[in-house]
Amino acid sequence: MNVGAYAAKTDTGRKRRRNEDAYVVAPPLFAVADGMGGAQAGEVASRLAAAALEDTDPGALSAPDRVESLIQEANRRVHERSTADPSTSGMGTTMTVAIVEGSTVTIGHVGDSRAYLVRDGRLEQLTEDHSLVNELLKSGKLTPEEAVTHPQRSVITRAVGTDPDVDIDSFTIDAQDGDVFLLCSDGLTDMVDDEDILEVAASYPHDLDRVTKSLVSAANRGGGEDNITVVAFEIADGDRTAPMRAVDEDTMENVRAPAVDTMVVPPDQVEHVFVEPGTPEAEAITSRDPISPAARVRLVLTMLALLALAAGLLVWGLVR
Ligand code: MN
Repeated sequence: MNVGAYAAKTDTGRKRRRNEDAYVVAPPLFAVADGMGGAQAGEVASRLAAAALEDTDPGALSAPDRVESLIQEANRRVHERSTADPSTSGMGTTMTVAIVEGSTVTIGHVGDSRAYLVRDGRLEQLTEDHSLVNELLKSGKLTPEEAVTHPQRSVITRAVGTDPDVDIDSFTIDAQDGDVFLLCSDGLTDMVDDEDILEVAASYPHDLDRVTKSLVSAANRGGGEDNITVVAFEIADGDRTAPMRAVDEDTMENVRAPAVDTMVVPPDQVEHVFVEPGTPEAEAITSRDPISPAARVRLVLTMLALLALAAGLLVWGLVR
């Protein structure tokens, strides 16, 4: 068993000015990173982490040890930079890494970028989000429907680079001929539900270039509220015909290019926030009730009534 076709696509989306996602396509290693932090720090974090995967030689380790040591190295570099450079203080990134070795695929991840497996016409989410919403979901404090629209759904509870050490989830999957693995940032999964991801993946078998492009298009049609990144690779028997490889060099250049301008992203565009679970900060976020639609209607009616009263008084004053 081998890596067959693979493809990658990243897009800024429709609402953000910069792309803070990064990806790595270095078969048999694939990864997605989604940076967070004010100004350009998110970009710095995801690119530093991606570069760490590309230029670290972990030596003759087993795949699970390699995944662990690569993400730890990424963590070390991002944390070191954020400690040395105040403008990037507190930055971090999600990271989802896959290494194919023989007939196994080892996944390591931190944050809410996901890995999915498409096999036999089914889609399985392999990773568990390290996010506040997922914690609330697991403890029964939120329904899956509420989770989808929760205002704090971009709060992650684990990130690469925010602490000197990072806790990594990793596991190994026995791969089969024809398996398709997808690694993606939340800009895809917040905009496109699992059913639609599967439909796209099933529509273009063995054409991963079309799969990644169509998924990015679907996310943009769904609103494109965040940067969107999709990496896809297929597992193939060694005797399959030459694999098709499509890596979006244009967008790859975009992602890799050093940031030259100094535009500051407004705070409401800062995408991910990191909070330590169980801290007062996390509690404050969880207990903060968003304004309900009914309360919003009452608020608008009250304002209209006050406005009418003011206009009435004005007219009355003029007439007198
Ligand atoms: Mn994102």
